[in-house]
Amino acid sequence: MQFSGWRVLKEGLTGNKGWTPHWRDPQPKSEYDIIIIGGGGHGLSTAYYLAKEHGLRNIAVLEKGYLGGGNIGRNTTIVRANYFLPGNSEFYSHTLKLWEGLEEELNYNVMMSQRGQIALFHSDAQRDAAARRGNAIINQGDDAEMLSVEKLRQMVPFLNYDNARFPIYGALLQRRAGTARHDAVAWGYARGADQLGVDLIQNCEVTGIDIEGGEVKGVQTVRGAIRAKKVAIVVAGRSSLVAAMAGMRLPIESHVLQAFVTEGLKPCIDHVISFGMGHFYISQSDKGGLVFGGDLDMYASYAARGNLPIIEHVMEAGMALMPRIGKARVLRSWGGIMDMSPDGSPVIDKTHIDGLYLNCGWNYGGFKAVPASGNCFAHLIATDRPHDAAAKFRLDRFATGRGIMDEEGTGAQHNLH
Ligand SMILES: Cc1cc2nc3c(=O)[nH]c(=O)nc-3n(C[C@H](O)[C@H](O)[C@H](O)COP(=O)(O)OP(=O)(O)OC[C@H]3O[C@@H](n4cnc5c(N)ncnc54)[C@H](O)[C@@H]3O)c2cc1C
Repeated sequence: MQFSGWRVLKEGLTGNKGWTPHWRDPQPKSEYDIIIIGGGGHGLSTAYYLAKEHGLRNIAVLEKGYLGGGNIGRNTTIVRANYFLPGNSEFYSHTLKLWEGLEEELNYNVMMSQRGQIALFHSDAQRDAAARRGNAIINQGDDAEMLSVEKLRQMVPFLNYDNARFPIYGALLQRRAGTARHDAVAWGYARGADQLGVDLIQNCEVTGIDIEGGEVKGVQTVRGAIRAKKVAIVVAGRSSLVAAMAGMRLPIESHVLQAFVTEGLKPCIDHVISFGMGHFYISQSDKGGLVFGGDLDMYASYAARGNLPIIEHVMEAGMALMPRIGKARVLRSWGGIMDMSPDGSPVIDKTHIDGLYLNCGWNYGGFKAVPASGNCFAHLIATDRPHDAAAKFRLDRFATGRGIMDEEGTGAQHNLH
């Protein structure tokens, strides 16, 4: 089913009876060339690019729940390319370019909104760091602009500029950054992959990985064994559990991250705004809700729900940044399980087992990575060579110490990235 203005008009006038399901609901076959474990954003985009760019068709995505029910449908939808370190920088540059053409690519409205991200700074030292980051972003070929506090006051007058503890000194702006509708991204990639012949199999938890003589042979699932020549693990917060099925111990910790949305309000925040003191970021959804989040819950867990101390912490940060938020009523909060890596950067790599591939370690930032992650991972799976934009996302950097990409400079403490 293709979308067009004409189709929307026709369906509107004929009672919307002509829409069909966006993807098939196939039974699993006994064998595939490639099995992708995990039907989140990264798994679905990997399947799509494998089919689209590499002409591979005999592929299944196995999802233990429903498509888009994991972190891809739980995030705060921020998309940006403002990373500092080589390795990350070229990758996120690649992803933002893919985002810019995504709706056309997928013929799907993912509500990509390049409304600009404003990253505030609150001290001279933070200003220096922002200028340095901005220069690195520009050198990479992306956009970055330093904003004086006067300019900022014109753009976002409602912030608390003169807070005695966290005065606002200015901001680094990336105009091409913004938001996209998270679950539409999963649906768009799912539909695109399905149209190219990929089997998307829901309610199909993988419970084991079959390996013989150092080579992957397939997987065990709650719906039976399925053979495969290649198997890709793309399960975000459950990476360590699934990799353990292949006898691997990953340097990944799983932590809860919460997010919040208020009741719908008239348009009042035009940008994505990140508070530079503490961890707080906010934007307004097209429905009017203020969508915001902050720190991790700070202890390892597989529970996709949060706890009260962090709720209080995030609300405090919101109040310090823009006191008028206190008038808005919070509608709901939720949690997702983050695959935190020791240096805050991801892994897209082969494993020591022939035919077994790994994509994980997305920390807080894997939504914006979805297009490039799938694109680069598909390249690796299809050609057995890393894509140039993801060549530094090697797993062995945690064993050798070479090639560590610690954006935050916080060291090997998973929950601080
Ligand atoms: C509250 C919150 C806010 C965030 N905000 C942002 C943001 O603003 N910007 C940003 O860039 N990133 C953000 N992120 C991070 C981003 O959402 C994640 O990094 C990214 O979605 C993870 O990749 P994924 O979409 O593939 O994960 P998921 O959607 O979690 O996909 C993994 C899938 O694997 C499945 N699975 C697990 N085990 C098995 C198994 N054994 N068998 C079969 N299937 C299995 C799961 O059910 C799941 O559907 C946020 C995350 C959260 C929770």
